Amino acid sequence: MLDILRSITQEVSTARNLEQALTIIVERVKAALTVDVCSVYLVDHDSGELVLMASDGLLPESVGYVRLSLEEGLVGLVAQRAELINLDNAPEHPRYRYFPETGEEWYHAFLGVPIIHHRKVLGVLVLQQHAEYRYEEDLVTLLVTIAAQLAGAIAHAEASGGINGLNGNAANERLPLVGKPGSPGVGIGRAVVLDVEADIDDIADRPVEDVVAEQERFLDAVRLVREQVRNMVENVSANLSPADAALFDAYLLMLDSDSLIGATQERIQGGNWAPGALRDTLQEHIRVFNEMDDPYLRERADDLRDLGRRMLVALQPKKSTTTGYPKQTILVGEEITASMLAEVPAKRLAGVVAVRGSSTSHTAILARALGVPAVLGVDDLPVGRVDGLSMVVDGYSGRVFVNPPAELKREFRRLQREENELSADLQGLKNEEAVTTDGVRIPLLANTGLLSDIRPSLSSGAEGVGLYRTEFPFMVRDRFPGEEEQRQVYRQVLEAFAPNPVTMRTLDVGGDKALPYFPIEEDNPFLGWRGIRITLDHPEIFLVQIRAMLKASEGLDNLQLLLPMISTLSEVDEAIILIRRAHEELVEEGVDVRLPRIGAMVEVPSIIYQIDALCHRVDFLSIGSNDLTQYLLAVDRNNARVADLYDSLHPSVLHAVRSVVLAARPHKVPVSVCGEMAGDPAAALILLALGVNSLSMSAHSLLRIKWVLRSFSRRRAKRLLAQAQAMEDPRAIRELLHKALEKKGLGGLIRAGKH
Ligand code: PEP
Ligand code: MG
Repeated sequence: MLDILRSITQEVSTARNLEQALTIIVERVKAALTVDVCSVYLVDHDSGELVLMASDGLLPESVGYVRLSLEEGLVGLVAQRAELINLDNAPEHPRYRYFPETGEEWYHAFLGVPIIHHRKVLGVLVLQQHAEYRYEEDLVTLLVTIAAQLAGAIAHAEASGGINGLNGNAANERLPLVGKPGSPGVGIGRAVVLDVEADIDDIADRPVEDVVAEQERFLDAVRLVREQVRNMVENVSANLSPADAALFDAYLLMLDSDSLIGATQERIQGGNWAPGALRDTLQEHIRVFNEMDDPYLRERADDLRDLGRRMLVALQPKKSTTTGYPKQTILVGEEITASMLAEVPAKRLAGVVAVRGSSTSHTAILARALGVPAVLGVDDLPVGRVDGLSMVVDGYSGRVFVNPPAELKREFRRLQREENELSADLQGLKNEEAVTTDGVRIPLLANTGLLSDIRPSLSSGAEGVGLYRTEFPFMVRDRFPGEEEQRQVYRQVLEAFAPNPVTMRTLDVGGDKALPYFPIEEDNPFLGWRGIRITLDHPEIFLVQIRAMLKASEGLDNLQLLLPMISTLSEVDEAIILIRRAHEELVEEGVDVRLPRIGAMVEVPSIIYQIDALCHRVDFLSIGSNDLTQYLLAVDRNNARVADLYDSLHPSVLHAVRSVVLAARPHKVPVSVCGEMAGDPAAALILLALGVNSLSMSAHSLLRIKWVLRSFSRRRAKRLLAQAQAMEDPRAIRELLHKALEKKGLGGLIRAGKH
């Protein structure tokens, strides 16, 4: 049974569009389960009706024609209840409705299973039988499994073709793709797909003008891949058995074969561009392999896919940093890393869209630091099909429009203009204090990590740096930076902000922050070797960093040190011993520096219960709400599937922040918040009410939060907090706060536009 499932899913993934995908599903399921009818109904998002989209067994003319509301028929009932229905004699059921155009009068047995993706019913998969017969448990569970597996593929096909796009349009023009808001703002531009994890099935057709040049380009790619395979053989042959090494011979044979290369050349001759021509050739072969009964031969389809991916990567034009990016580049990819962002000239970067990631993933943080709108976790994004297409990115609501119609673009341009006006208006607050209407002053500091965000931080009127993420300079290199290299980077930041304090966090890699030259393979990276755990295990790395920071602060004395990922007090003790040692060494070497103030991040729940003891050891606390939320709620901050559960306004997070503030108060140890919560206008109100001493956020949020603080009194914030504390649901809390912001005329901070 698993075999059947696997081969159907694989075949569906080779479909060019929704129509083909559904045809494969109904034909293959009907044949594999030996039933009389298999049909798929999908919900038309415009009308809310179910439409018969494909059937093997019902009369062909009924496909695309039969429509029913959720209140109608058995299929409607399955969708309405999101529950399967298994009947031996369907016509007897009170909800049975007869559609003459289908020829359904012949059928009695009925099994309908909902197709559900992300809690949403996309449609219904139906089996029917002439006989009166009850489908057995095995078959029912198999159909449920098939529906669950296919839901993702159908959602993906819908996103790129749409229920109205049976002809396989590159993308649906009206329905936005939905992801998670990664960085606020509106971006309008052209998609540039970097380093696609190219999937042959995602390639769209494109006409070519110069056929000969395209054929030559294809042959170049073949040559390149041949070279790569030869190198692979050389690298691995010593460790492989001759039988395993033969796999690569098979690759080389394929790369020489006329059926692959010649056939693709012919297709290019026919006017399609090389990736599209290659896709057709590969899919033809893959289908043949997939239909083979011998499992060994079936696996050869995977080899072909692998080869295809390599050839597609080789066919991708290399983008050059100076000429390859359009003026308004929307960077698109499965995953957008720090180095990819760094590759695009800042002036040309208009937006970021990725399949992976979520609101507090580090890609989002980086995008915010750069002031670039971002939408992440768009899991239905057909990455391979959007290169070069026009796009609108709404970083507030997490929506992405591909090929938007002119009027929609015009509307977003207007919102963008309003945004710019708002930012310009806010500049007027730059030199004003962050003080509430009843006189409570809350210092606002900047989160930085890139040298390029020093200027925006200064021009936003930041009163220092509350979090300098030192991992970014480590990430964009190909080895650990040395002491002098680090000193120079740190010096620039310390000098730029002196005499204001700069809080430098010691290296916090691991989790989702990987160093290309220091790979860590773990099953649970966020619960693994991360932050202080790594640096205490590698004192040589820690000491070099501390020395570089201390040296950089010579003559300025505005450095503060911050220790990340503290889960146990002994980590603080050990880190302090190393810091003191580095300080003593430097003093002996004649460097004139004071021992800086040392703080701990509160981002692992265990430490919340040891704040008393922690306060005896450190000078300040900084709440890392990104990780605190992730660990407290057990929700991976990067995982789009559970992103709806991730909310820093969850009552438990608010409760945790409150207990930290209360426990630190008798020790007079100040508490700041440096996670994304601090830059969220709604959350900032709550943090003000909770008595947090300072807030640190990306430069682009700073004036916005200043505006919030200057518009409210702490008394009013406390009243809102009291209301929030009586609520159980984070969404209700957010709604309450958003309403309060709207009422004060601050709606422009929580959605696109100014008003
Ligand atoms: C946090 O976890 O809130 C934090 C500020 O650190 P980072 O986002 O770098 O993990
Ligand atoms: Mg953290």
